Amino acid sequence: MKLHRCLLLLALLAPFAQPALAQSVLNLYSARHYQTDEALYANFTKQTGIRINRIEAKEEELLERLRTEGANSPADVLITVDATRLAIADERGLFAPAQSKVLEERIPAHLRNGNWFAFSMRARVIVFNKLKFNATDIGSYEDLALPKFKGQVCSRSGAHPYNLSLLASIVAHHGEAKAQEWAAAVVSNFARPARGGDTDQIKSVAAGECGVAVSNSYYFARMMRSRRPDDRKVIEAVGLIWPNQSSFGTHVNISGGGMLKHAPNKDAAVKFLEYLTSDDAQRYFADGNNEWPVVPGVSTDNPALAALGQFKADTLPTPTLAKNLVTAQKIADRAGWR
Ligand code: FE
Repeated sequence: MKLHRCLLLLALLAPFAQPALAQSVLNLYSARHYQTDEALYANFTKQTGIRINRIEAKEEELLERLRTEGANSPADVLITVDATRLAIADERGLFAPAQSKVLEERIPAHLRNGNWFAFSMRARVIVFNKLKFNATDIGSYEDLALPKFKGQVCSRSGAHPYNLSLLASIVAHHGEAKAQEWAAAVVSNFARPARGGDTDQIKSVAAGECGVAVSNSYYFARMMRSRRPDDRKVIEAVGLIWPNQSSFGTHVNISGGGMLKHAPNKDAAVKFLEYLTSDDAQRYFADGNNEWPVVPGVSTDNPALAALGQFKADTLPTPTLAKNLVTAQKIADRAGWR
């Protein structure tokens, strides 16, 4: 009898309880794959009381999921890495504009378009084996094609977005024909077939399997901060250069996201995006995952980033990269950069 009354009470309360519940949840689809992000999300819940349901998967899987879910998608925010992926999601009409003074004021104009917003930056650097080469032996991405690096280049797949974005920037700066020549020459300099992630390339360079490789800066900084003896050995064996300091600058990319068109919790979505630009969150990107904040003037406490210092970054606008993505893909295919 008592149980029955209790259930009846719950049934009566349910319609009132639901809107409040819906307000306190954020459904996040994320293609970021960094353990240190846990603290970033936990802090949001602590500050706002909004619980995050996070689905983490590869970018392609998330996009496919959003496509099949359509208007019934429970997702509020999509977070991803790489400017071109954000642009693709935007082109497919997945985002809704997030109107927010905070986002406009905090994020520099070239790092947002109203539908998507960048929250952190990373650079594509060149690492070299210190026994094989000096920092003066290589100064640019173009140099990776030089005959002196025959059998000396390690790389991850050319189909990976990090490399496709870099290739798209080469297309923007030099045109398709020159970019094709460059890619073919780089592939002909490979020490081994393309494989592994950026960290694997750094390790291969340290082991002397190759002399040079390209990597995202945060993987290098992560190893700089590691206390594991094998990581220490790797970092001691390799040097880092900022490519293209005397030309267009080092290729930089972003991680970012936006509110989804069918977001059921739009208020929570905007709150979350705004939170990602807060000093606290920006510091998580920097101190936790070794990326650079996009919000100017945020103080960080990361010895590796401090040690890496300042560099000149390529200012190529994201839409230009996105525009050259298909060409970059064709070039990588034709060059056999798989
Ligand atoms: Fe990564």
